[in-house]
Order: sequence, then structure tokens, then C-alpha cells
Amino acid sequence: MNIAEAKTIDLKNFLKQANDANKELNALISIADKPGKLGSGELAVPCFIKDNIVTLEYPTTCASKILENFQSPYEATVITKLKAAGVWVAGKTNLDEFALGASNENSAFGVVKNPIDKSRVPGGSSGGSTAAVAAGLTPFSLGSDTGGSIRQPAAFCGVVGLKPTYGRVSRYGLIAMASSLDQIGPITNTVEDCAQVLKIISGVDPKDATSLPVPVPDYPAEIKKDIKGLKIGVPKEFFGEGVDPAVDKKVKDAIAKIKELGAVIIEVSLPTAPFALATYYIIQPAEVSSNLARFDGVKYGLSLGADDQIETIEELYKKTRALGLGHEVKRRIMLGTYTTSAGFREAYYDRARKVAQLIKQDFDRVFKQVDVLISPTTPTVAFKLGERANNPLAMYKADLLTAPANLVGIPAISIPCGLADGLPVGLQVMGPQLGESVIMRVAHHFEKNYNWREL
Ligand code: GLN
Repeated sequence: MNIAEAKTIDLKNFLKQANDANKELNALISIADKPGKLGSGELAVPCFIKDNIVTLEYPTTCASKILENFQSPYEATVITKLKAAGVWVAGKTNLDEFALGASNENSAFGVVKNPIDKSRVPGGSSGGSTAAVAAGLTPFSLGSDTGGSIRQPAAFCGVVGLKPTYGRVSRYGLIAMASSLDQIGPITNTVEDCAQVLKIISGVDPKDATSLPVPVPDYPAEIKKDIKGLKIGVPKEFFGEGVDPAVDKKVKDAIAKIKELGAVIIEVSLPTAPFALATYYIIQPAEVSSNLARFDGVKYGLSLGADDQIETIEELYKKTRALGLGHEVKRRIMLGTYTTSAGFREAYYDRARKVAQLIKQDFDRVFKQVDVLISPTTPTVAFKLGERANNPLAMYKADLLTAPANLVGIPAISIPCGLADGLPVGLQVMGPQLGESVIMRVAHHFEKNYNWREL
């Protein structure tokens, strides 16, 4: 279901379909019990939104027990903007707890299944959002992307997912995970729909000091411009080692097709890019350990009562966090606390920040030479449920090709570019800061000219 089709949908049917399909997929955490009202704007459609974006109509759980019954007293800027454009938010989607994960297996509300092959993961952390879009439960969704959480599940489920430039979209009301990396972005069936949603949610916001005071382009018009003569960089470090040969091949075939459309292909090198994953897994847990310190049983969510025999405030913190947080969340908090503690901070956190700077310089240099960069989105296609659940390192490797864009703050989109063993392969287009128009333009022309399901 794309946005145009959703404009004529009967909302009762919409909810019934969502309830039915959800029994199998577990993509949704909250669903409205009766049809709501669509507005009169250009985006008068229903949708489901990732459950780490706060809403007034539904609890916001972050798929964590610690926030199981948390009701936000305010709503996110992106929600207010969607409503002004006519959207009715019909519920919230499942995710890895606090958006930490790459398979949606870390949710306190159960795993989400990949609608294309239900024995496989949908990817994460925005797995519920992407599964809901791929299964036709919603014309679009919003996810959040800190290291790949929009693009990686989009690749696994065969849909479009875009992480905007850091600051392009307000983070006000996105529950902070790693604040220097988090961005909200659209998950859709087509690049045109992505452009439409991005135009609505973008823009400076006085409530988010990191939002950029720059005008929002008319993305749906921008993406129609021709791609003849555009310079496409192919970074050699994003191919080969660590990337499944079947994925490698599909993406290279797609690059050849983009060349046929008139773009110029240039091989480039980003020598520091292979350090992005390790750098990400220092910086990100450090920020997680700091941001998640606020969930201590006092102000938000889970609160232990008199029956729990708690005597001291320290005991309250310990018990609440022990009961309320899942394994992966605890692992990140411990990693991040370690790398920012006295004596280790210089060796880990401060050094990682310096490496991130070097990676950024590499990208800056290459973007003087080319308009966009193309790579696979993920090293593999969707893996089996359970396959990596007990192997954190294998799980972290899913972010190999997506984490660089977050560290550098640049926009990146994933679109499906073919099938390998019947499973979708994601193609990633990265652009310079605020280059959303050009990356969607390349993606749109590929999508328009080729049917990925036949490639
Ligand atoms: N898989 C990555 C992680 O677990 C990305 C998470 C995200 O982008 N929210 O950290």
C-alpha cells in the first residue's frame, strides 16, 4: 500500500487488516481500538509510528519493560507535523528495546517476523515499522536511525528507508539513545513517498537546538530531475571483505544499471571507513549509558512499590533497572560506563571521537569529487530468527556499512535493488550533508526504471 492508495482506504478495514496481520508478525505494540480522524492536508492517510517517538494518544514503551506503561505528557514535533499534514496515527510499532539491536529480537514485547520470510528477522531496530510497511499494514512509518536502524531493516524487508542529515529532522520527542547520532526518518514503499514524508517532517525546530536552520527543499519535485552526468562514487572499502558475494554482485549489477541511465561511475577510496564500526561501538554505548541513566524508577515508567521492600534509593535504582532493562541494554550501559570512566576515557571515548573526525575528513574529501556514494546497505540479506541472538559481535556486524553515515552526520537511503535467494538486497546511496535531494534522485531513477523484484 503506497500513500496514494492509502488515501481512499476505509479506516475500519485498515484497523482490521492491521490486527489480523499483526497476530503473525508482531509488528505493532499499540493499535487504536476505533477509527480516528484524517485531516485535510496532503498526507491524509493513517500510519503506524516507531514506539520510541512520543505520542499523546498511546503509551511510548521503547519496547522496554521499564517504560511499559509510560504515557508521555507531550508529543514529538514530527507527530505534530504529520497531523498538520492530515495524518492519523493509528498506533505504534515494535522495535529492539531502546532501539538497540539489528534484528528486533531484543524487544520486551517479542520478536517481529520478516513478512517476506517468516523464519527470518525483519532487521532492527525499526523492525516493526519496516515489517508493517512491507506487509502493507501502513502506507509509511517513521523509524529512528542511530547506526542503521532505518536502512538495515528496510534492506531486509525490501522497502525504502532514509536516514536524514543530522539536524534535518527535529529529534524533539524521540527518546534519546545516542544523541549525537540519532535521527528520525521515513520508511516507505517508494522513493516518491519517502520524499513526500521527508518534506513534511523536516525543518528547524526551536525545541531541538541541533535542528538545522535551513529551508526545506521541495523533495518530491527535486527527485524528478535527471541523473545524467551525476558522479557516483563507488567506495572500494564497502565491497569485498565482510560482504556476502551474492549481495556484492546484486549491488554491482545495480551500479551498472545506474550507469546505463547516464550517471558517471568513479571508483573512490575511504581508507578510514573500515574503522567506523569499532568507533561507533565506543561512542554509541557511551551516550547510551548517559542517556539511559534517567530510567531509574523515580520519574518514568516502572516504579516499585512498598511490597518490594526497598530501603534505600540506591536499592530502588538497582532493582528497577535490574527488572526493567533487557540484556542488550544492560550490556551497552556497562560498555559505555567503562569507556567513559576515569582512566579509560582518554583511551577509548576521546580516541573514538578523534577517529570519527578522521572518517568525516575522508568523506568530505570524497564528496569534493563525487555527488553521491553507492554501496550495499548490509553485508548480508535477512538472517534467520535466533541465528545471531546469542552472538552480540555477529549482530553488531550488521551495522558495518550503515554506521559510517551516522558518525559523519550525512544522509543515506536504502532501496531494494534485487533478490538473492529470494530475499531482498538493499542498495545504499549516501550523500553530502543536506544532500537528501540528490540521494533520493538517484534512488528514484533506479526504482522507476527497474523492477527490483525481477533483478
Ligand atoms: N544496530 C545498531 C545498534 O544496535 C543500530 C541501532 C540504531 O540505529 N538504533 O546499535
